Amino acid sequence: MAAIETLGDLRRSGYRSRPVKQEIRDNLVCKLRSRDTLFPGIIGYDETVLPQLVNAILSRHNFILLGLRGQAKSRILRGLVDLLDERIPVVPGCEIHDDPLAPLCAACRARVVEEGDQLPIAWLQRDDRYVEKLATPDVTIADMVGDIDPIKAAQAGLNLSDELTMHYGLLPRANRGIFAINELPDLAGKIQVGLFNILQEGDVQIKGYPIRLRLDVMLVFTANPEDYTARGKIITPLKDRIGSEIRTHYPATRPNALAITKQEAWTERPGATRIEIPPYVREVVEEIAFQARTDRKIDKRSGVSQRLPISTLELVVSNAERRALASGEALVVPRVTDVYAALPSITGKFELEYEGELRGAEQIARDLIRTAVGSVFSGVFNGVDTRTVVEWFDLGGTLPLSDTTSADDVIAQTHGVQGLRELSEKVGLPPGAGAPAVASAIDFVLEGLYAQKKIGRSDERGYSAAEPAPRRTARREEMTLDDDIRIPNSKKKYYN
Ligand SMILES: [Zn+2]
Repeated sequence: MAAIETLGDLRRSGYRSRPVKQEIRDNLVCKLRSRDTLFPGIIGYDETVLPQLVNAILSRHNFILLGLRGQAKSRILRGLVDLLDERIPVVPGCEIHDDPLAPLCAACRARVVEEGDQLPIAWLQRDDRYVEKLATPDVTIADMVGDIDPIKAAQAGLNLSDELTMHYGLLPRANRGIFAINELPDLAGKIQVGLFNILQEGDVQIKGYPIRLRLDVMLVFTANPEDYTARGKIITPLKDRIGSEIRTHYPATRPNALAITKQEAWTERPGATRIEIPPYVREVVEEIAFQARTDRKIDKRSGVSQRLPISTLELVVSNAERRALASGEALVVPRVTDVYAALPSITGKFELEYEGELRGAEQIARDLIRTAVGSVFSGVFNGVDTRTVVEWFDLGGTLPLSDTTSADDVIAQTHGVQGLRELSEKVGLPPGAGAPAVASAIDFVLEGLYAQKKIGRSDERGYSAAEPAPRRTARREEMTLDDDIRIPNSKKKYYN
């Protein structure tokens, strides 16, 4: 291929260009035959989304991914690039990447006639054949399809309806490639009509002038199912031209969710001291998203993105890093209390229902963390007797710890709490674990007991005995809100 420099070379090589959807289909068939990984990095869709996606591509469909935010929709679309040929021959300088063997635009057609086999060939890399646009109501037909340039027309002495006067928009520039439109329902109706016309007839009207463009584009879209069905803002003829409608979803299982967060979160930090994230910290962070997705105070229609646990884990690691730097520790081990320092990455990632608004985003986030800790703690400490530790607090013991307390201080201060060290070892500390790891395990036990309301915690006093259960005279409103914090039954396994 590298030796092909002119149209003559290309013709002699026997190269045959294919429509883009055929090309993507052919390459997919190859990958399926050789059992290559399709869409590397996409986790948890093997039995749901991917089979439908493969079928759509095999059928040479334009398709739409329907799903809530943070369900890897854009990532899947970008993954289509891997199914394009590594490079294709184009007429050099052509804005719509014309095929030298069958050019569309008048300028290229003229060049082929003039230069014949001497016409030079350029090669277009596959990354340059993917065009993405976020739909917004202010996107115009000029942005999408193009505009007529009257100055160009006047200078060349052309009629305005001549395609040579065209200033190309995004769609023609995606010719022989993939054009992805995110949030399709946000695109104004008349722009959708324009898209439809170009798909159906290969022509479009710009400022009253009909322009014919027989483009070869694979069109892919994303949309939020709420906008799509409830508001119904995708015009019917366009909807009709979308061959497949594929629904995405949040991770169905905890292991899948953990794997996604592990893959996406920036936790391997070059230059930083060694970072070891205990499994229970990862699980608590993940559990927050699972709890949030079922919490009735949180708006289900807007969803809870997988970006919530991803950015939360990043902040958790940063808080641990900050503590380690301040106390001169060489090993960074995040603690469960560090999750509370990650509130800024939680509160902005969900929309509240009315009941949630009353309670406030920050309090909702704290409730979610506490419930998540309780859930993970119940799973790890299922059937383990924690009474010795609880009694120490009931007898008046207090521990003024915070997320800034150094590992050595945590160990020293909790030394006298009978049974605590033994409990903390149940989380699976490796032999010879460093002080930051031991301190993190102790912190997990204390936070777990707090989540189960067996001990209390306040900003001023740290950990202490549990508050007595609220009496019946407590204000009614407060009671109902508190009841809502579900602490899972300790007999229940938290993994699904
Ligand atoms: Zn051209």
